[in-house]
Amino acid sequence: MADIQYTIYPMDGLGHYFEVELLILHPNPFGQKIQMPNWIPGSYMTRDFSKHILSIHAFGQDQHQALKEPLHLLQTNSDTWEIEAVQGPVIIKTKVYAFDNSVRTAFLDTERGFLNFSSVCLQVVGQTQKPIDCVIEQTALTRGWEVVTTLPSVKIDKHGFGKYTVAQYDALIDHPVSMGRFVKISWNSYGIPHQIVFQGTAENLNLPLLKADLKAICDTHIAFFDPNHHVTPFNQYIFHVNVVGNGYGGLEHRASTALICKRSDLPYAAQSPQAEDLKAYQDFLGLCSHEYFHSWMVKKVQPLAFQPYRLNQRNYTKLLWLFEGFTSYYDDLQLLRSARIDLKTYLKRLLDTHHQVMRNPGRHHQSVAQSSFDAWTKYYLMDENTPNAVVSYYAKGSLIAFALDLLIRDFSNQTKSLDDVMRAVWQEHGAYGDQVGVGLTENGFDKMITKSLGSSFRPLWIGFKAAYIDGTQDIDVVELLQSTGIALTPKKLTIAEKLQQSLGLRIQSQDGFVKVTHVLESYLGQQAGLCPNDLIVALNHEKVSVTNFSHLLARHCHQKVKLSIFRGDLLHHLTLQLPSQSALQEERMNSYLLAND
Ligand SMILES: [Zn+2]
Repeated sequence: MADIQYTIYPMDGLGHYFEVELLILHPNPFGQKIQMPNWIPGSYMTRDFSKHILSIHAFGQDQHQALKEPLHLLQTNSDTWEIEAVQGPVIIKTKVYAFDNSVRTAFLDTERGFLNFSSVCLQVVGQTQKPIDCVIEQTALTRGWEVVTTLPSVKIDKHGFGKYTVAQYDALIDHPVSMGRFVKISWNSYGIPHQIVFQGTAENLNLPLLKADLKAICDTHIAFFDPNHHVTPFNQYIFHVNVVGNGYGGLEHRASTALICKRSDLPYAAQSPQAEDLKAYQDFLGLCSHEYFHSWMVKKVQPLAFQPYRLNQRNYTKLLWLFEGFTSYYDDLQLLRSARIDLKTYLKRLLDTHHQVMRNPGRHHQSVAQSSFDAWTKYYLMDENTPNAVVSYYAKGSLIAFALDLLIRDFSNQTKSLDDVMRAVWQEHGAYGDQVGVGLTENGFDKMITKSLGSSFRPLWIGFKAAYIDGTQDIDVVELLQSTGIALTPKKLTIAEKLQQSLGLRIQSQDGFVKVTHVLESYLGQQAGLCPNDLIVALNHEKVSVTNFSHLLARHCHQKVKLSIFRGDLLHHLTLQLPSQSALQEERMNSYLLAND
């Protein structure tokens, strides 16, 4: 029996809580500390999981494993408790609320359960390196349910309830658990068992298509990192999918990923998909591809700054442009290479990413290195000023990978590519099983570039990095594509669309009027005095809504118009000078299409 054992009871589907017992066989005799993590690796935001502990009690245990008198627990901060000094084993009983329907925490209702152990299991301070047994118990709630997890099992029943074991706490929190009823698909990729399991209503899915697509993607990734032997860093892999009406996201783990997607993102058996559905399904496959790539890149190859993860403080690295951005580059590229999308679709997706980066002025103020470092307070805590202040290390990071790939191909006369660098990084910094690789220092990628491409590439890399990674220079995707012979043409926008762009406002409908959510710096909207949260109710005495706003603007080109707005509960009037049609014609917009499309 391991020194540390967690027993999880999925107890109350109506009150949404798990009961968790933590048995510590050898507590620190001078007083054992226990602590809830306050973030989960892969999602760089302080989440204070301890806030969902409904009750916590500690007890001694006698030699017959019966509970003794309650022990005194001193809470020393939001996450930490200290158990009074005691000889012999102790048991800590907690009730933990779980009703977050995301991939990052835990959830329990009468139909399903999902948990990341970082949301429900206290760390035993000073003993987090020790092996752990974890028992998932059947309760009245879970009759007819099944447990799906990549946790290594010791003794489980046919439904997956029972005892599991892991080498240490870090491993425990890297194997999420789904419970309930599932639609499942299984396949082997290079001999390794893979599964995708769907929860939520997911009837009539096109299972053969999903299986063929996912197998092709997984095969491509495995062959990418190990073209000769096809050895994977895991010995099984599970995609946990929570299917909902509206939602999108994923979180990577060492042998699995937890995904959330819209029901309409998935393919159905009795339906020939429309273009819109196809795009949504490609996005879903892109998400699967992204999280799967992470099994190598960030779960095994890691920033040194994440070794080990310190779960009660922010862990800072300037390398998320690499770990998230390059992963974003390869997620779509691998869809192309596995023939799940064609070249035209791939290029359209690349142009979408380019547009996504170019539409936010924040790219002039923040580098992707800085954006990585500040992820905790900026990218993950978006607010009304985010488009003016933040660049996405995902989106720009993927464009950086694209530009670097072309640069390497050009430099090497097409004999090398970014693939060679990524494989070299994997060989030098990767690992198998429960190990992680030698951590990548903040300058570690520079060394790998030189090692893979020779010192003659170094000056090019230094200039490239200074401009695009540590600096804020735009990646000119349009020029790069054109240099490879791909013809592009500016997207034709109507006057109304151009006017709306020149205002630099992000809007949404509220109470039938136009609510301003974001005001982009230096655009006409800001110059006219509009602020985030303003409610535009009229333009020259005419009521505005999100449907007529741009048409009303177009009717008043080259004029001064009066905007009536509510700011808070007070009515204001602002004057907005609209540009002329000819000025708009000349304005360069950042939207491009493939020529001949
Ligand atoms: Zn990612």
